[in-house]
Amino acid sequence: MPVSIDLTDETQRSALAGQMNAAAVELPSLIGMDRAEMAEAMIASGVTEKQARMRVAQLWQWIYVRGHDSFDRMTNLGKDLRATLEKNFTLARPEIVEEQISTDGTRKWLFRFPSRGAGKPVEVETVYIPEEDRGTLCISSQVGCTLTCTFCHTGTQKLVRNLTPEEVLMQLMVARDRLGDFPDKDAPQGAFVPTEGRRVTNIVMMGMGEPLYNFEHVKKALLIAQDGDGLALSKRRVTLSTSGVVPNIYRTGEEIGCMLAISLHATNNELRDVLVPINKKHNIAELLEACRNYPGVSNARRITFEYVMLKGVNDSLQDAKELVQMLKGIPAKINLIPFNPWPGSQYECSEWDQIESFADFINANGYASPIRTPRGRDNLAACGQLKSESERLRVKERLALEAMVVGHGET
Ligand code: SAH
Ligand code: SF4
Repeated sequence: MPVSIDLTDETQRSALAGQMNAAAVELPSLIGMDRAEMAEAMIASGVTEKQARMRVAQLWQWIYVRGHDSFDRMTNLGKDLRATLEKNFTLARPEIVEEQISTDGTRKWLFRFPSRGAGKPVEVETVYIPEEDRGTLCISSQVGCTLTCTFCHTGTQKLVRNLTPEEVLMQLMVARDRLGDFPDKDAPQGAFVPTEGRRVTNIVMMGMGEPLYNFEHVKKALLIAQDGDGLALSKRRVTLSTSGVVPNIYRTGEEIGCMLAISLHATNNELRDVLVPINKKHNIAELLEACRNYPGVSNARRITFEYVMLKGVNDSLQDAKELVQMLKGIPAKINLIPFNPWPGSQYECSEWDQIESFADFINANGYASPIRTPRGRDNLAACGQLKSESERLRVKERLALEAMVVGHGET
């Protein structure tokens, strides 16, 4: 069972109160602005142009290297400037509605972002997966999804809205807060700030939503995450997963430069039209053509093809053969994902033996084909299980799900 922090309990809620500065919540956040916008915003609030341009680099450091969420400790900024910033902007974190820690160390957070004048507050899920050599944060790009992939839980939740750049980035910021991953927060001013030994070493845009249907916001957030003088994640440690929004794939390589993952899941259009309905708009041939032309793709920078293992649907050795054939000539990795069930899902996960023979076949044909070990299933944090608020699990459903998961035999 997950170790759950129940935030209906007042004591625990107040233990996290530092995460949220309710009074400041409606002020515009500086998080998610690029340097030019930050300077503009400061100028608009009365800071002189010279001062604004000069101070942006320092502010950037406080926010992204040190992880500070208030202006009062930014001691090298000068008292007046700090007061102006305090009055006009916020760095407040979203409310943490829930934080669950799974038995395997996976963490899942449910964040609530304020409405900022548009609709209702929204709830977003973010998942942290620690492994021996890395720690991966799975970030959401939308609340819900416009697409309706039939094996995906998120696909059953209508799109509520796109996340803003601030909200995309904030998932990384708060995960780092909670994991103690801003260790230099209290280092003296001017001290050398190490970037080694981080908890969050990789991020993947594989949470709720289709990132390429929220391209501009995701791009802005990822460019800030990859900024060498701030959060400093290398482009090779940032992966964007898409169901196949072909027109934006090239732009991703060109303008973001991160790694690409494609949710393939089928080797022919007939089946892919059902599993990943965007295929009716951009079919397999078109998708693979975009992959071949992905800027920067090479054997050292391969594209990941995700393939969910659905019992009796796409898991035969014939499928494996076709998969290998269709990816010829593309520098590729194949990621086999055991299907994660959710209440009401119409598929079953392939038998473990079948997944292994499928993987063996692919291996024998020259592809490294890691099978993604199911993580965090005990708290519904696994791929494709993310879904927020509108239909929370009832206890009965949850028990039914756990029974199903046990039936699959964890590895
Ligand atoms: N919308 C993007 C990114 C989010 S989904 C996309 O589709 O690529 C992240 C990955 O989880 C995708 O490869 C998706 O196909 C996979 N996925 C979705 N539901 C799943 C499920 N129930 N079991 C296993 N993988 C799933
Ligand atoms: Fe949306 Fe991706 Fe789920 Fe498809 S798999 S419904 S694109 S989140």
